[in-house]
Amino acid sequence: MLIAALPTGPLAANCYVAAPAPGGECVIVDPGQEAAPQVARALTEHGLAPAAVLLTHGHFDHVWSAAELADRHGIPVYLHGSDRGLLTEPAAGVDAGFAAQLQMLLGPGPHPEPAQLVELSGGETLTLVGMEFTVEHTPGHTPGSVVYVTRTGDGVPVMFAGDLVFAGSVGRTDFPGGDGAAMTASLAQAVLARGDDTQVLPGHGPATTVGRERATNPYLRGVAG
Ligand SMILES: [Zn+2]
Ligand SMILES: [Zn+2]
Repeated sequence: MLIAALPTGPLAANCYVAAPAPGGECVIVDPGQEAAPQVARALTEHGLAPAAVLLTHGHFDHVWSAAELADRHGIPVYLHGSDRGLLTEPAAGVDAGFAAQLQMLLGPGPHPEPAQLVELSGGETLTLVGMEFTVEHTPGHTPGSVVYVTRTGDGVPVMFAGDLVFAGSVGRTDFPGGDGAAMTASLAQAVLARGDDTQVLPGHGPATTVGRERATNPYLRGVAG
């Protein structure tokens, strides 16, 4: 499996390009601010054609370039229904001070949705580009946060975790729609219940594994696995 990690924008949100191998179709996960040029370079470098955009949640730093890329390539965007509104009103996902800044940056909403939008509810298995992605609803950071879990050719689970869990930290729950209790339940079900060998590709920062986070992440202590 080929996975290119492309940190984008001032918040260094990780965009991922994932494919079974070079020279075929790929998915684009979380194309955030200024992602389009980096994605274009990765597609050229690896000879890839995008078939879908997968969004882990609706925050602007993860979805900024989703409509632009999807419409340019004529491909669908997948997003949980509970975060759909953030595509058109990104300022609704952040606190008031930041919302004002964001509105200056993006201009007044509502912003256009992608031409093809597939609403997820969690529990789906998506067969895309010759890979299977299971969708798990993991509310807490936002109401519509999800993780996408696939497997390498060797059968090792790989989780696109969005802002659920990071190397040494977890997603914040103090933005509008955040929910600490839901976050604890999501961490227990979607992180701690997984095998230690699960590769974790978070929405910010370096890759990690479930085993490493179980052993060392202070925010997972006290969360029943
Ligand atoms: Zn977020
Ligand atoms: Zn983020």
